[in-house]
Amino acid sequence: MRTYKTSEQLFEQSKNVIPGGVNSPVRAFLAVKRTPVFIHHAKGSHIYDVDGNDYIDYVGSWGPGILGHAHEEVIEEVQKAVYDGLTFGAPTKKEYQLAEMIHEAIPSMELMRMVSSGTEAVMSAIRVARGYTKRDMIVKFKGCYHGHSDGLLVKAGSAALTSAVPDSAGVPRSYTENTLIALYNDKDSVREIFEQYGEKIACIIVEPVAANMGVVLPQDGFLEFLREITNQYGSLLIFDEVITGFRLSYGGAQQYYKVTPDLTTLGKIVGGGMPMAVYGGKREIMEVVSPLGGVYQAGTLSGNPVATTAGIKTLELLKSNLGIYDEIEEKTRCLAEAMKEAGRRKGEPVQVNQVGSLLCCYFTEQQVNDYQGATSSDLDRYTSYFGHMLDHGIYIAPSQFEAMFVSLAHTKEEIQKTCDIILQQ
Ligand SMILES: *Cc1c(COP(=O)(O)O)cnc(C)c1O
Repeated sequence: MRTYKTSEQLFEQSKNVIPGGVNSPVRAFLAVKRTPVFIHHAKGSHIYDVDGNDYIDYVGSWGPGILGHAHEEVIEEVQKAVYDGLTFGAPTKKEYQLAEMIHEAIPSMELMRMVSSGTEAVMSAIRVARGYTKRDMIVKFKGCYHGHSDGLLVKAGSAALTSAVPDSAGVPRSYTENTLIALYNDKDSVREIFEQYGEKIACIIVEPVAANMGVVLPQDGFLEFLREITNQYGSLLIFDEVITGFRLSYGGAQQYYKVTPDLTTLGKIVGGGMPMAVYGGKREIMEVVSPLGGVYQAGTLSGNPVATTAGIKTLELLKSNLGIYDEIEEKTRCLAEAMKEAGRRKGEPVQVNQVGSLLCCYFTEQQVNDYQGATSSDLDRYTSYFGHMLDHGIYIAPSQFEAMFVSLAHTKEEIQKTCDIILQQ
């Protein structure tokens, strides 16, 4: 029997035992009509598939990989940590150390809890907001993603200003009726909701930079407006910084845009590639969490010693060299310029949204400031762009509605090579 298998063979076999052959839907490459590549290993800016191909990776595991893959110093610390035990279900010094580091980086997170996924962090933060305000309704924005908990898998109902309806089978209607949907960058849509339901709204949850519909930047004053209107109605403002935390700046989007939320969720980078996420905020609010208060939340693997080790080392490396944020932004800008130039050369409408090391290119005439703009992109064109990049050894997101992530490990030469391939389309 041959033990070596190609991506195609592995995909076929995986489908027998895993729904769609993957453990998260986007990995199936359905949107781009290709067979997913099965990864063998990754190092620095490169990812290698089981077929022997070598790609420059701009997915970075969807965000955690800001230092590049398998960073020597992180791996070394993790290796040491595993010998001390994989999980204890009891408190450790490392959890305290990581919490202190997070608090120092993001001062609004005075009290925080560690959990194992972004989904769990957001779900818990919303429970805290409801428990603290004693209100049930929440506001989210169309096109923002906050994990797959029931109340957040929603789409707009038929009439404006009514509560949302499930956007996934298996979610009861009653689980989404307290979720209201506003439009990103549209203050009026938020104002209208608050005029009608303001006193019942526990919180607004928002991605301060929307990075799950491609990349959509907040327009001037939008985040400030959310801060003001939540203050006015006694609702809380939650920044879902699962992507932006430690990516936009060491202090996340709240430092970058100078708007302070009541609660923040972190994930991805904070675990340095291990399953780890965090939610936290103002002391007075977070004191509702059990065992201090009546909001229950728990986790067998929460604050896992190996995950906290990877998180601590990753944050240490970022903190000891804050210049890297300018460095990766500069590299990202080069890629953005190449995308714009490619559009000009082909006489093709292209919109390029970029902030820090987050980047996305849309094939549309329209400026992309919201979900409607994002969905105006020509998805067949994205598919051909994706195929061109993959076939030339550049691994980008297999979906229009995801960000391109640049890391510290991408060299100038690799960025240049990527630009050349973008221009060859
Ligand atoms: C990835 C993501 C989540 C969900 O995190 P998981 O670890 O995948 O559960 C939540 N919010 C945002 C903004 C994300 O990008």
